[in-house]
Amino acid sequence: MSTMTTVRKLKNYIGGKWVESHTTQYEDVYNPATKELICQVPLSTREDVEYAAEVAQAAYEKWKKVAVPRRARILFNYQQLLTKHKDELARLITIENGKSLSEASGEVQRGIENVEFAAGTPSLMMGDSLASIATDVEAANYRYPIGVVGGIAPFNFPMMVPCWMFPMAISLGNSFILKPSERTPLLTEKLAELFTEAGLPDGVFNIVYGAHDVVNGVLEHPEIKAISFVGSKPVGEYVYKKGSENLKRVQALTGAKNHTIVLNDANLEDTITNVVSAAFGSAGERCMACAVVTVEEGIADEFIAKLKEKTLGVKMGNGLDDGVFLGPVIREENKQRTLSYIEKGIEEGAKLLTDGRERMSDDGYFIGPTIFEEVTPEMTIWKDEIFAPVLSVIRVKNLKEAIEIANKSEFANGACLFSGNAHAIRYFRENIDAGMLGINLGVPAPMAFFPFSGWKASFYGTLHANGKDSVDFYTRKKVVTARYTEPKFE
Ligand code: NAD
Repeated sequence: MSTMTTVRKLKNYIGGKWVESHTTQYEDVYNPATKELICQVPLSTREDVEYAAEVAQAAYEKWKKVAVPRRARILFNYQQLLTKHKDELARLITIENGKSLSEASGEVQRGIENVEFAAGTPSLMMGDSLASIATDVEAANYRYPIGVVGGIAPFNFPMMVPCWMFPMAISLGNSFILKPSERTPLLTEKLAELFTEAGLPDGVFNIVYGAHDVVNGVLEHPEIKAISFVGSKPVGEYVYKKGSENLKRVQALTGAKNHTIVLNDANLEDTITNVVSAAFGSAGERCMACAVVTVEEGIADEFIAKLKEKTLGVKMGNGLDDGVFLGPVIREENKQRTLSYIEKGIEEGAKLLTDGRERMSDDGYFIGPTIFEEVTPEMTIWKDEIFAPVLSVIRVKNLKEAIEIANKSEFANGACLFSGNAHAIRYFRENIDAGMLGINLGVPAPMAFFPFSGWKASFYGTLHANGKDSVDFYTRKKVVTARYTEPKFE
């Protein structure tokens, strides 16, 4: 917490205006690559949430009546503006999150794709009908928005994750209150400004910055009808339970421990490029990061040797610099947490293949890419989501054993298989516990028109983010059954 006044203090965005929070508490926001203080974020209060909810509710009453194609047109304008500002948005992500500029550009692109999908509301929102369900009786199903929706986002995708939520919710006729991560609040300012510039009426999209108090305010406010949460498992569980207890719809996308299986027939060069990118890209701070590789015995020695070589060649540094692949983790506490996992791994008997501690730098929160061999499912480094550039390698006899290991995890977000064998691919698809599978690719994050569909402790709820699930999540239905007996025309 800081009381410095020289740094810009962010304001909430409510009713189309930048509004000062009622709080006296601000948290410092750092560039994780330089430790430079870039702004201060208000830890907003319940009063701020109350005000945002009141404004969002009033805006919803008008917005829900705006014709669907007109709403879609604003989304088209927004898509154009986001595309025009793509480089600026990517730079903001790199500055506040630390990931490389090319990763940040990829993230911006994924966010824009969500806006493109949301612009398709006229067809997505259509209901269905049956002209004759009994003599002279017909039935039709119409979709309506649900009201004010609250979104709670993590730090690791400041643009993409909020874009899983608000463009779709808004395009479907709801109003929205976003609580970005207090560690990466900057980019969302731009998201709000550009949406207003695209023609969105004031009060439909609002931002309340902060932490626990805002989350609790959102979870308890009676006018907020649905919550989209993305973040860690303990917080997601809390949000899901508390939101449900308060009779809200909740979708909570949570943690992960993604396994990649490499079979003897895999293309080694491609597989290693994919694994290194999936394990260490965005400093391993991805819910679809590769955390464990299980490799078949026949290819294991060669795979491990080449994996080590490729990993040692990874360029670390400030994500704004050319050619940098691996940036810092988000904060000093994340770095310290990672170091304690490395110590724990050694203590529990895993063998270090590359030691990220040798490449640490104090210019920012840097820790080098770390690989453990001889990991077992009993070890803490196998069980816990470390969320840092730390990869575990396990040798297996065959695909069956690899799947048995992966399925022991409490998480089941993504899983990948590297093989050209059609039978193995089908066996993997049918037997692995995970909602998002990659075949011969490393990060199988589905595009906007498919659901982001984690299983087990990686997701709480019924309807996932994105795709048709998001249409169902952000709408409710009215089924009209009508009898027409008069007049007779024959
Ligand atoms: P986090 O759970 O710490 O924070 C997420 C949000 O919850 C933030 O807005 C934060 O302010 C709020 N929050 C944190 N602690 C809280 C508390 N005690 N009470 C109320 N609110 C609280 O997560 P993070 O560190 O920002 O993000 C990393 C996590 O997000 C990882 O576990 C990662 O796997 C997960 N994630 C999951 C997906 C997915 O699709 N499943 C996508 C991205 C990130």
